Amino acid sequence: MGALFRGGFSLVARPEEAEIIIVNTCAFIRPAVEEAIEEILELARYKEKNCRILAVTGCLPKRYGRPLKQALPEVDLFVGPGDIHHLVPYLKKLQRGEKVPFCLSQPRNLMRHEDRVLPPSGPVAYLKIAEGCSNFCSYCLIPRLRGRKRSRPPEDIRQEAEKLAYSGVKEIVLVAQDTTVYGTDLPGHPTLEGLLQDLCTIESVSWIRLLYAHPAHIRESLIEVMADNKKICSYLDLPIQHINDDLLKAMNRGYRRRDVEKIIAAIRDAIPDMALRTTVMVGFPGETEKRFEELLSFLEEIRFDHLGVFPFYAEEGTRAARMTSSRVSRRIKDERIHLITEMQAAISRELNERQIGTRQEILIEGLTESSDFPYRGRTRRQAPDIDGITYVKGEGLEVGGIVEGFIIAADTYDLFAQIE
Ligand code: SF4
Repeated sequence: MGALFRGGFSLVARPEEAEIIIVNTCAFIRPAVEEAIEEILELARYKEKNCRILAVTGCLPKRYGRPLKQALPEVDLFVGPGDIHHLVPYLKKLQRGEKVPFCLSQPRNLMRHEDRVLPPSGPVAYLKIAEGCSNFCSYCLIPRLRGRKRSRPPEDIRQEAEKLAYSGVKEIVLVAQDTTVYGTDLPGHPTLEGLLQDLCTIESVSWIRLLYAHPAHIRESLIEVMADNKKICSYLDLPIQHINDDLLKAMNRGYRRRDVEKIIAAIRDAIPDMALRTTVMVGFPGETEKRFEELLSFLEEIRFDHLGVFPFYAEEGTRAARMTSSRVSRRIKDERIHLITEMQAAISRELNERQIGTRQEILIEGLTESSDFPYRGRTRRQAPDIDGITYVKGEGLEVGGIVEGFIIAADTYDLFAQIE
């Protein structure tokens, strides 16, 4: 977006008004690929009307390369994630009727604060602190698609955070493929701890949240910084994927069950009210009934506040896709997802009900259509988009404001609060 704006292009609200349509794609698992292709075909219909150029950027061209050109002849320009700097010059070439190459090289680029051109539409914004990943989990295509880990310089992140604060953002959510290894590739090795402390000094930012904390890289100093800074939400997203040691090894996750147990104990010891989120994968090759039971009973014992469960996809080009023995059928994967979801729903409801009667800060994010609870917001224990929300009633509340309210009711995923 930054490159396009600097190149003199502007945005329109609807595809039928656009002369150029750009589909930015995700392609790390099959459903994402299917969604991207559907969207491209859907938007290609506008070429019969106003649109002159259809471009596809992101991981789909990176994953499938030149054969995609034959498969999608409606597309005029493909630009992989490493070549985004070519997007504007090639669009201009196409506008002049000149030919352009298929654009694909190793991703090395990194976003800069000036690339963010549109203010966020609400009081919360994601801030990407690094790009790529060097962990090479055996089931994951991301290192191949997005390249190795590259951290953004702390001063550049700070500038973007200040810009967000200036536009009214109250909550900044730090993301990366693995946030916990931030900075190790930069000169002077700045740390995530230092970055968090620095961002806490931006006055008008009230909450800072950390997502995608790889369990192999959580350390005491990070937990200490989280415990010592009130602006950092007591919330941690710790994607464990599984808990059986043999599967963790086959996944190349770099930790064992006892490491996860130690980390969770240390976190809960230092920050007793910490809300923990995790993601688990079912149906990885070799996930026998016994190994699945181990995961299920671990989740029951730990009682994560929030949990996402996904089936294993054998993505071509990954090591796990070549693990052809002891594959798990789709039916069994679905059954396992169902078992985990059912169990987690009961845990989530119970943990939510325990919050009734507590007083909590709530970030008001918008309005609802209900006259009983006319506002919707989130507590510090709820991350945007992935966790539940808090429905709020009270007088004269402002969207974008943070208020203190009493939790008066709860259901499986959402809370209900009253502001006095
Ligand atoms: S840490 Fe995440 S992004 Fe990196 S290889 Fe593993 S699953 Fe993929």
